[in-house]
Amino acid sequence: MNMQISRTHASGNASGWLTIDLGALFDNYRFLQTQAPASAVAGVVKADAYGLGADHVATTLYAAGCRDFFVAHIDEAISLRKLIAQDARFYVLNGLQPGNEASCEAFDITPVLNSLAQVAQWSDFATSIGKTLPAILQVDTGMCRLGLPPEELEILVKDQSRVSGLRIDYIMSHLACADEPENLANAAQLTVMLEAALGLPNAKICFSNSGGIFLGSGYHNHLMRPGIALYGGAPSVVPPNPMKPVVGLQVAVVQTRIVPAGSQVGYGGSFVSKEEMRLATLAAGYADGLPRSLSNSGAVWFNGQRLPIVGRVSMDSIIVDISALPEGTLQHGSLVEVIGPQQSLEDVADDAGTIAYEILTSLGRRYQRKYIQPRDAAAALTDRAPNA
Ligand SMILES: *Cc1c(COP(=O)(O)O)cnc(C)c1O
Repeated sequence: MNMQISRTHASGNASGWLTIDLGALFDNYRFLQTQAPASAVAGVVKADAYGLGADHVATTLYAAGCRDFFVAHIDEAISLRKLIAQDARFYVLNGLQPGNEASCEAFDITPVLNSLAQVAQWSDFATSIGKTLPAILQVDTGMCRLGLPPEELEILVKDQSRVSGLRIDYIMSHLACADEPENLANAAQLTVMLEAALGLPNAKICFSNSGGIFLGSGYHNHLMRPGIALYGGAPSVVPPNPMKPVVGLQVAVVQTRIVPAGSQVGYGGSFVSKEEMRLATLAAGYADGLPRSLSNSGAVWFNGQRLPIVGRVSMDSIIVDISALPEGTLQHGSLVEVIGPQQSLEDVADDAGTIAYEILTSLGRRYQRKYIQPRDAAAALTDRAPNA
C-alpha cells in the first residue's frame, strides 16, 4: 500500500477509508500481459469490478491496453459501453437471456452462448435482422456450471447451419480449480477444451482466469480472463502472491473503554474478559463487508500491533482488544488498518473462513473511497502496444 494515502485520523464524514490504487491495477494488468506475451489479456469487471468501481477500473484497464471486458449481466455491459471507447469489446458471461437480443445488438455487446437453445436464439435473431453477429461459445469442460457439454457441441459442429448469421469469435471454458496448480482437474479440463476447439477451427480459444495464467503457457491460448489477480488477489493458493495490492481499508475508532475482568463483550456475550482490558469500538461491521465469521477470530492493526476482534461482529461495528497498545494511543477518530501493509486481503478472508473475492465484493458503499490514479496512464496511452 502506498503509505502517502494512509491516514491516522478520520476526516470529514468518513468513518472508514477504502483506498483503491488504480496505479497498482494498471501495473497488475501489464504484469499479467508479460506472463503471456503472445496472448491477449481481458479484464473481468463483473459485479462492479469485484466491488471496486467498474467505471474507474475499466477506464484504467483500457489505458493499460485492455480491449476485452467480461461482465456477468447485460446491464453491466451497457453501463460500461457508454463510458469506454468504441473499440472495446464487451462479453456477457451469464449468457443470452430471453429478450436481451435487441439490446446486445444495439450496444454492440457479445453474448457468451451457453446452450444450443441460446445459439438458436442468437442465430434466429441475426437472421431476422439480416446481420452477422458476434458470439462466444462456452463449453463445459468439467465444472457443470455454464456452457454446452461436449456432446452438445458435437451436435453443433456436425450441423453448422445452427450458427448461421453468427461469427464465433472465441470458444471458451472456465477452470474449476485453477488456483490449485497441483490439481489434476486443470490438465483434464484443458484437454477437453483443446479437443472441443478442433470442431471450430476458426474460433480462437479463451480459457484461463487468473489462476490459469500461472499454470503454464499451455493455458494461455488466445485470450485470458483474469479478475481477482488484477485486483491484487492471489491467483494461486501457493504463495507468494505476485500481484500488487490494490485495496486498502482503514476504519475509525468510535469509542474506547476500559472493562474489568468478567465483562461480557458484544452480542450474546460470546467473549468474556479474563482480566481488565482496554477495548475500542470501530465504525464498520458486517454491513460493511466485515463478515460475522470474523467474530472472536480476526484482527485489525495499528502501528505494527495486532488488535484482535473480541466478541461478535455487529452490523455497523466491531470491538477490538487494544490492551497491547500504550494507553491513549488510540483515540476517538483514530484510524486502524483492516487491509493494508500489515494484513492482506487474503489474511482477512482466511480469518473469516472465506475467499478474497467475497470480501472484495462485500465491502459496501459506506466507506469514503479514494482512488489513486496511475502515474503513467497518460504516457501509457501513447506508447501502448495494441492488444489483439
Ligand atoms: C469470474 C470469472 C473469471 C475471473 O476469474 P478470477 O478467478 O477472478 O480470475 C473468469 N471467467 C469466468 C467465466 C468467470 O466467471
